[in-house]
Amino acid sequence: MKKPDDIVMVCICDYAGQVKGKGFRGKDLKSRLRSGVGLAPSNLMITTFGQIVDTPWGPRGELIMMPAPETEVTVEHGPDRPRERFLLASLLDLDGEPWSCCPRSWLKKGLDALEAETGLRLNSAFEHEFHYTGATPRLGDAYSLDAMRLQGAFAQRLMQALDENGIDPEMVLPEYGPQQFEVTCRPALGLKSADDAVRLREITRSVARALGQKATFSPVMGAGAVGNGVHVHFSLEDKNGKPQTFDPERPHRIGEAAAHFTAGILSAMPALVALTAPSAVSYERLQPNRWSASYNNLADKDREAGVRICPLSKLPGTDARKSFNLEYRAADAAANPYLTLGALVWAGLQGIRDRLPLPAATEGDPGQLPEEERRKRGLSRLPASLGAALDEFAADKRIADWMGADFVNAYLTHKRSELKLVKDLDLNEQIKRYVEVY
Ligand code: GLU
Ligand code: MG
Repeated sequence: MKKPDDIVMVCICDYAGQVKGKGFRGKDLKSRLRSGVGLAPSNLMITTFGQIVDTPWGPRGELIMMPAPETEVTVEHGPDRPRERFLLASLLDLDGEPWSCCPRSWLKKGLDALEAETGLRLNSAFEHEFHYTGATPRLGDAYSLDAMRLQGAFAQRLMQALDENGIDPEMVLPEYGPQQFEVTCRPALGLKSADDAVRLREITRSVARALGQKATFSPVMGAGAVGNGVHVHFSLEDKNGKPQTFDPERPHRIGEAAAHFTAGILSAMPALVALTAPSAVSYERLQPNRWSASYNNLADKDREAGVRICPLSKLPGTDARKSFNLEYRAADAAANPYLTLGALVWAGLQGIRDRLPLPAATEGDPGQLPEEERRKRGLSRLPASLGAALDEFAADKRIADWMGADFVNAYLTHKRSELKLVKDLDLNEQIKRYVEVY
């Protein structure tokens, strides 16, 4: 028998952060790179649990998934299993224009606006935490070398697959929880960083599946247990690649544009979490004392900050201008990375447009400050549930300016549908379902 051709999938990352698409023979890729692949708009409205509850488009309309060649992924699985191939796509309408509700196009538009209005580009790096079922848990294995042994060949295969696909992995490590791991990447410019976040999640899942296991990125694994965060490190550079985030003369050593950018993110954060931490269980993670984030605060080297000012070492060989960055901590992998990064870019750009002043960094738990003091400093507790986050999102008029009314409506409809599907379940049942889908 002749060696069978590959199946190549062209995929989108939908509002639920799920990657879905359609496959064809490898030999058809060249023509598909020109013509794309059709998709019904309501496909985006499939909730993370696989059902459509409500959709503005019904069975009507047509979109084109136009694959971006630079996102092509191949994961080799040895001689006994077909290799996996997929590409990520932007959604176009039939005129070939970016569809007004396409997450990838929305991020691209934000990055283009940032560059056109300010001359700045965004570098970012996603850190992902997840659980790997193939690791044998052992009491006391948090961060341990033995936990690394107990996961077998998975980590090595993962690093290799990332590397082979042009994702620059920096580190893989056992995390705090049993069977919990983290993989970090070096920063990438603009859209590539979000493309890589989508690709990394799917490559991780692919490597785990090939080993007969599962990698799950669910924001929480159990009530009260440590969560799986997605932390987004960000910095700005000018068109010539000159870093623009570090300025030793300014408060917290944050350069002028980066300070406004960060202020924009902090001010919109209670609404942005509807995009960046968008599952019903995400708010179980965004609590004090979980090493995640629970306020829209800026803090220096504090792993419970909404935005953390990352450390700078004085060791030889460290270039402060290049390495200085900030970290948005209120994201998880139920979020579509294009929406997460898009949220940061649009809110950051608004901060620059409005020349928003950077609030002073907090010290210690903002929850311990008197309420009056928090109010004066613009500190808000992040919403305590997805429903509350969606209400903040719907009420923030800036978001409607950035996304447009149709996109806001589609997203709200999608997420409110998801909430309907879990509203009668207790927390443990909800978590079980999210562990299964992510
Ligand atoms: N697992 C924590 C979270 O949910 C983060 C721990 C860390 O700082 O790496 O965000
Ligand atoms: Mg971590």
